[in-house]
Amino acid sequence: MKFMDPWSSQGIDEADYERLISEFGIERIDDVIRQNLKENRFIRRKIIFGHRSLQNIFKAIEQNKPWAVMSGIKPSGPFHLGTLTTALEIVEFQKMGAKAYYCIADIESWEDNGIPYQESEKNAVDNLADILALGLDYNPEKAYIWRQSKEPIVKDVCFKVGRLVTQNMLNAIYGEKPFGLYLAALIQVGDITLPQIKDGSQPVIVPVGIDQDPHIRLTRDLTRRYYKEFFLPGATYHKLLAGLDGTEKMSKRNPNSYFTFNEPLESIEKKIKGAFTGGRRNRKEQQELGGQPQICMIYKILMYHFEPDDEKLAQEFEACVKGELMCGDHKRTCIERVIKFIKEHREKKEKLIDKAREILGVD
Ligand code: SF4
Repeated sequence: MKFMDPWSSQGIDEADYERLISEFGIERIDDVIRQNLKENRFIRRKIIFGHRSLQNIFKAIEQNKPWAVMSGIKPSGPFHLGTLTTALEIVEFQKMGAKAYYCIADIESWEDNGIPYQESEKNAVDNLADILALGLDYNPEKAYIWRQSKEPIVKDVCFKVGRLVTQNMLNAIYGEKPFGLYLAALIQVGDITLPQIKDGSQPVIVPVGIDQDPHIRLTRDLTRRYYKEFFLPGATYHKLLAGLDGTEKMSKRNPNSYFTFNEPLESIEKKIKGAFTGGRRNRKEQQELGGQPQICMIYKILMYHFEPDDEKLAQEFEACVKGELMCGDHKRTCIERVIKFIKEHREKKEKLIDKAREILGVD
């Protein structure tokens, strides 16, 4: 049996998305939802392709009732394009009226990567300043932010639900793993349940990469059995960005597959220059045969994050397929946009570092 592994660096190919939808009962984002959420470019562009219980959110909005968005980050390093996707999804849902619950998963960072709390604390401040710079409103009425290691609620849930969890259940969901990762998974059950424990029963949506679905399934199962008065947590699922160099997934083990927001600009530029494209061997072939934007990382990173205009994106796709757009020129456009974004982001972020320290209670 093939497990979906939230801690692995293995990528997921296109065919797998279909399998995951049918095997695990994920609902598709249909045209009605797409219309309802047309402001959200991840939904419009089918990057978010599936969900669970999104209808509860629509109902809450319609009835003017409270609802929440919950997600987090493992503070094992600086922000990159993968963490950017989830962060922007949280900000987007908060703008739609959700209270945002943001977790710094430092227990997971220890269990999965062996990073001690003192060290992940630095990353946590940096990561939080990133999401604040991206627009997360930290006003306590609109957001609650916590570190797993300092939050008694999530530890309580871990022990409470622990008596319902057997080795067989965990094996069936995650395969055989070190015990610490199972514990981290139960702590995540606490993270996802926290909004309803803290602020009462309400619909919660958890925007995640599809690789995190095992945590959602475990939490829904335990909520059904232990917290009968709560809504089953919902989720939206986005497709994972492949590695810049064309490898399956952005991975720390392969530094050319991604860049971080803290990297020197020259290094970012170099990595984008070296990115895998769907271009042909030379200009002549590109003009004759056209490129393949559907497999191109330059096209993908523009589509995910750096081309806000749908029409322009469609024009670029077409120009590539017709052989009118050359990879060198397109890479230059992409580099300019990324560097501009990173520069502006750093300026905003610098002003928010102290706020991030204050929120996390770090001296
Ligand atoms: S022209 Fe652009 S989209 Fe087309 S293959 Fe080259 S880099 Fe990719």
